[in-house]
Amino acid sequence: MRTIIANLHSRKPSLACPFFVPTERADDLALPHPARLPLGAAWRGRCAAPGHEQAIPDNKELEGCNLGYAKSCSRLPEHRKCDAVRLGVVKESRTLISLQLIFESGYRPAGQELLEYDRGTGQPPIPHRLGMDRSSPYPEPSVQRQAECFLQTYLERRGPDRANP
Ligand code: SF4
Repeated sequence: MRTIIANLHSRKPSLACPFFVPTERADDLALPHPARLPLGAAWRGRCAAPGHEQAIPDNKELEGCNLGYAKSCSRLPEHRKCDAVRLGVVKESRTLISLQLIFESGYRPAGQELLEYDRGTGQPPIPHRLGMDRSSPYPEPSVQRQAECFLQTYLERRGPDRANP
């Protein structure tokens, strides 16, 4: 099994808002360095912040959704578990891809989670924890969806030849 660190330790903050539920690619959005965006590309989607569920961020707001630390966003709850989510591939084999999620609050680590993607089933990545139901997605749908979108762009970028080393 190879160990890969992708996107987790870049020098610039590279994180998505924890309340962002990405739904479709937004390659037309003018965000800097698309390949280095937290979710691997720019995405459109909806907001899942309490009281604003189903709100559709406009193009300007999507910058905060995609890049996190959206302190100027009026929908960002005052009390929140974290400000942003950083995603990265930490291990990869012929059968599995391990994604690490690091939650940040005030630019400091505020928790982490490991999700595993089974190449054989092709099902969405699920948390990897002892004693946990191995069929359950991550409990926060926005974070689960971010992991799925990150993985999608990661696999696209690696291409079919390199996806199964
Ligand atoms: S940046 Fe604002 S609009 Fe976008 S997901 Fe976060 S709270 Fe919602």
